[in-house]
Amino acid sequence: MSEVLVVVDHVDGAIRKPTFELLTLARRLGEPSAVFFGSSDKGGEAAQKLGQLGAEKVYVVDDTEIKGYLVAPKAEALAQLVEKTSPAAVLFVSGYEGKEVAARLAIKTGSGIITDAVDVEEGGVVTQSAFAGNYTVKGKVTKGVPLITVKPNSAPVEEVGAAGTVEEFAATISDAAKKAQIVAQQPRKASGRPELTEAAIVVSGGRGTGGNFEPVEGLADALGAAVGASRAAVDSGWMPHTFQVGQTGKVVSPQLYVANGISGAIQHRAGMQTSKTIVAVNKDEEAPIFELVDFGVVGDLHSVLPAATEEINKR
Ligand code: FAD
Repeated sequence: MSEVLVVVDHVDGAIRKPTFELLTLARRLGEPSAVFFGSSDKGGEAAQKLGQLGAEKVYVVDDTEIKGYLVAPKAEALAQLVEKTSPAAVLFVSGYEGKEVAARLAIKTGSGIITDAVDVEEGGVVTQSAFAGNYTVKGKVTKGVPLITVKPNSAPVEEVGAAGTVEEFAATISDAAKKAQIVAQQPRKASGRPELTEAAIVVSGGRGTGGNFEPVEGLADALGAAVGASRAAVDSGWMPHTFQVGQTGKVVSPQLYVANGISGAIQHRAGMQTSKTIVAVNKDEEAPIFELVDFGVVGDLHSVLPAATEEINKR
């Protein structure tokens, strides 16, 4: 059975959940091997977790020489690894970096690429979601090594194995790949809340907040949830774009999604309609979001949310 390379998305060794989802999908195509850019130490630690979740092998690519640069060196290193391993496919998390590295790798290897997949089946058939979730498109790469970027929350995380075996991979990086250097990097101020796409609970606010997100944030903190926002709230400058849920924002699929002062436009639904349980608070009983919910409250979020938060905090 051929190897399937899964490019690990991590911050300083802390692996983000979508990578584990990729391992689940990779098992449908062959034997998953993770590709970890980082130090040997961090790679060794990562191999424990990656192995448990399905990686039979972990290629550690020492990034000392390349971590100060943008994505081109990673694409170059991956091209060399693809040449060495002739994998059945390479999977990436669909983010800014994953998509750019995949695109560059497609050029280097003369391969076909499919981005923003929401499912990958045995045989390499890939599902994409189009027109705000109204259509699904099935496609397959027909040239070279299939390069597939997958949206977070597209597959379950499955515990299957033991620690993956570590293999150091020494890539040769050309000067041509080192043309764009990182000059400064500033971590976002830590909110203490879970990452939006990884959270089990998401509490979102829309135009109905009138710009006051305190009730939304209060409920989120009581539930240990991430905070999300509609595009109307983002466009009004109330929340940064990184909080936006929807077609042009992030796709979330938590256990519980609470939409507050959000009408339920199709583009918002595209980012949250696969949530397991959906709750909405809206003062308009005709709001389209109520077509989607498991539980709805018709009322003013500025009174409903503080009351709910108080009750939850008592428990
Ligand atoms: P509104 O539609 O204005 O709804 C506000 C709701 O709040 C209303 O239902 C109202 O009854 C309720 N409300 C008001 N006051 C209160 C109160 N005090 N208490 C309780 N309820 C109250 N949108 C996204 O969200 N994400 C996207 O990624 C996205 N991408 C888009 C891409 C394209 C190409 C386009 C054209 C649009 C996109 N949109 C997106 C915008 C989308 O069409 C809607 O305009 C947007 O989702 C509306 O946001 P909203 O529900 O907060 O505001």
